[in-house]
Amino acid sequence: MRDVIVIGGGPAGVSAAIYLKRFKLDVAIVMKDQGTLANTDHIENYYGIVEPITGSDLFALGIAQAKRLEIPVLVEEVLNIDAFDGFKVKTNQSEHEAKAVLLATGMNKAGLKVKGFQEYIGKGISYCAVCDGFLYRNKRIGIVGTGDFMFEELEVLENFTKDIVIFTNGEPLGKEVTKHKTITEKIKALKGDDVLKVVETIDGDHEVDVLFVAMGTASAADFALRMGAFTENNSIVVDENFMTNIPGLFAGGDCIGGLRQIAKAVDDGAKAAIAINKHLKGKTQIKA
Ligand SMILES: Cc1cc2nc3c(=O)[nH]c(=O)nc-3n(C[C@H](O)[C@H](O)[C@H](O)COP(=O)(O)OP(=O)(O)OC[C@H]3O[C@@H](n4cnc5c(N)ncnc54)[C@H](O)[C@@H]3O)c2cc1C
Repeated sequence: MRDVIVIGGGPAGVSAAIYLKRFKLDVAIVMKDQGTLANTDHIENYYGIVEPITGSDLFALGIAQAKRLEIPVLVEEVLNIDAFDGFKVKTNQSEHEAKAVLLATGMNKAGLKVKGFQEYIGKGISYCAVCDGFLYRNKRIGIVGTGDFMFEELEVLENFTKDIVIFTNGEPLGKEVTKHKTITEKIKALKGDDVLKVVETIDGDHEVDVLFVAMGTASAADFALRMGAFTENNSIVVDENFMTNIPGLFAGGDCIGGLRQIAKAVDDGAKAAIAINKHLKGKTQIKA
């Protein structure tokens, strides 16, 4: 079991990992891709940047720095985290165990940008199969998504009903599915009365009792929901030590809200690392 797994290879995650390594902790970064930095070609407001730099180049520098310090950087997508006596981090490739986990997964994603989406959150729209699947046993379950995260959620939902329809919302499905009906058209609207009843695509209406949202990659908010970590306005709630309400589960950077800038993400990462070190030293004997 490692001391710490940092989920995210952006400014918050790499900054934290650098400090954790300096504390001689056994830390690894698990990350999917360049995160938010992939979206910008022009950064000039970060310390030490003389000429504007692209987000991709800054990301590459951060990862190169982590690797030079011999921090393992595992390019894997995290699908689930289980809290036991420590944490089990399940990815699309393997499982990793750690005494503490830092969520540095960037901004939590929004939902579908269609009419009715906001209205039916919690009234037939769910973000968590483990939390809500049981409520819809033997009912008509819809799930929207296409990737490994959707398949992870689908596996949970299959325990509750055979009547499942997958909505890909115009995207190609990650792998072939024969067991369930798949609707590939774009979703136009979500309709119902007090609760969601219909998913409308350009092809027509599809009746459902619930729609589970599992689009793209699982975000910190998705993990929080499954683990019972508190969120507020889609941001992870942390205390002054960057710890969530789950002991040993920390979060920093864009996923906890506040100023969404590199300087703040790097600051969060450093502070979270200091707190994690104290947390682990309080609990276990750390190597000298
Ligand atoms: C268009 C745009 C322009 C910007 N310009 C600037 C600027 O000029 N200056 C500035 O200071 N800030 C700028 N920002 C904001 C800045 O990019 C973010 O504040 C910063 O990147 C946040 O860092 P982070 O480490 O919290 O998250 P991110 O940089 O988003 O990193 C998140 C990491 O988590 C990983 N991850 C997420 N989910 C998973 C998963 N399930 N499994 C494994 N890994 C996962 C991602 O792959 C990524 O490695 C800009 C943002 C945008 C969108």
